[in-house]
Amino acid sequence: MSGLIELSATQLAADIRSGETTSVQATQEYLNAITKLDGKLGAYNEIYTDAALDRAKQIDAKIAAGENPGPLAGVPIAIKDNLCTTYGHTTCASRYLENFQAPYTATAVKKLHDAGAVILGKCNMDEFAMGSSTENSGFAPTRNPWDIGRVPGGSSGGSAAAVASRMCAAALGSDTGGSIRQPASFCGCVGFKPTYGRVSRYGLVAFGSSLDQIGPLGRTVTDAALLTGVISGYDPHDATSLPNDVPDYLADIETPIKGLRIGLPKEFFLENEGAIAPDTRAAITAAIETYKSLGAEIVDVSLPHSRIDIDADGKMSSFAVSCYYIVCTAECSSNLARFDGVHYGHRTGENVDGILELYSKSRKESLGEEVKRRIMLGTYALSSGYYDAYYNKALKVRRLIADDFVEAFKSCDILLAPTTPTTAFKLGEKTDNPLEMYLSDIYTISANLAGLPGITLPAGLSSDNLPIGLQLIGPVLSESTLLRAARMFEKTAPPIIPPMVKNSDT
Ligand code: GLN
Repeated sequence: MSGLIELSATQLAADIRSGETTSVQATQEYLNAITKLDGKLGAYNEIYTDAALDRAKQIDAKIAAGENPGPLAGVPIAIKDNLCTTYGHTTCASRYLENFQAPYTATAVKKLHDAGAVILGKCNMDEFAMGSSTENSGFAPTRNPWDIGRVPGGSSGGSAAAVASRMCAAALGSDTGGSIRQPASFCGCVGFKPTYGRVSRYGLVAFGSSLDQIGPLGRTVTDAALLTGVISGYDPHDATSLPNDVPDYLADIETPIKGLRIGLPKEFFLENEGAIAPDTRAAITAAIETYKSLGAEIVDVSLPHSRIDIDADGKMSSFAVSCYYIVCTAECSSNLARFDGVHYGHRTGENVDGILELYSKSRKESLGEEVKRRIMLGTYALSSGYYDAYYNKALKVRRLIADDFVEAFKSCDILLAPTTPTTAFKLGEKTDNPLEMYLSDIYTISANLAGLPGITLPAGLSSDNLPIGLQLIGPVLSESTLLRAARMFEKTAPPIIPPMVKNSDT
């Protein structure tokens, strides 16, 4: 493990800017780490070796000429493969888009470029961001750097594995129901889903448009704040983009949180002990104590419609998960209708009898099982005769879930919860049971349904040496408060490094 890849993105940018080191050196170190580790992890779908080094040279030249390269001066960053770029491919880890080259670059990626970042490559994911393990990738699963027999989470599993294993300084992911926070938690990094609309979705391949949000994964809270500041802001290309000014998220990140009111949703803590693994519960309980010692005021709150029910056989269910899987599949069935084998992407090579057969063969051949399942579920939920019973009802439940948060935030500033019910599970453990897979999102999904910002950060390791994530959720546009609260906790917790990285001599 050598120097530059261990630095935070913030520190690396400062060192490159001051001439302490160069972007070329840092980029080369990250590329070496990728060469060394990515064969084992499969975090990247595509690596831009030459382009990244060229870009690094440009940044170094700018600095040598006395120009300001921007806040991410020469820092090597990876992006999830559902963010469009005019260079390379944008595959969404789908065979359907395997050779697709986007005609434009996503606003969030363009903002990274403008801030001086070096884009290292595109990260693996669950196909079209549908999944919680990255096993739904149309190419190959990504593995967890803490234990390569385990999943990195998903759908931004490639981004999380790359950040945790020091194969990039930070990464972008997308979060529709937990896809930044859950993999960040499984891999021991910081993952931040900003308020819905805070970051433009222009150029993010749509899955559930009313839920999707781009955000950063990093190794420190400050890095997450730095990236969030860079990628946020109004964008006329996204009709749901928020017009509000972007605050300086770094400005008060070091300000103590004495007096901050942190709410504990009783449905997540007091009831249904079975919905949290014992190690996770212990870590979260310890985190609450830490917050008390930092001067936070802990208050009990209730999110009745986000509660988790467990039946006599130990089977879990949750309104939020049920509601989410109607809303997101409905939106997915509509959004994915564009992949028809006509305009772009995979077209069947077989002879077809008419346009309908062209559609169905092209889709059948190139879309994975989970994507097909969701298109069918969503089409059903939207179909005449079932629309009211499913889709409309889900929208009503969504409103109740969102209203619970409004009520809860009357007595607290932010909420504290686990990020996931368990630590990373084994590859193949949940692939035969989609419902069980869906339940890995019981603690993250409500924030998406309500459009709220949520952050996960490491809260220690389980007895089998796997990262545990702590989640903080805040009201709309409370990014600064969340980042500050996360930073204050991070300062008390020792950093965690995957053994495969610690023992490597990269
Ligand atoms: N795991 C959830 C799903 O499968 C969330 C995915 C996401 O946030 N993109 O839909």
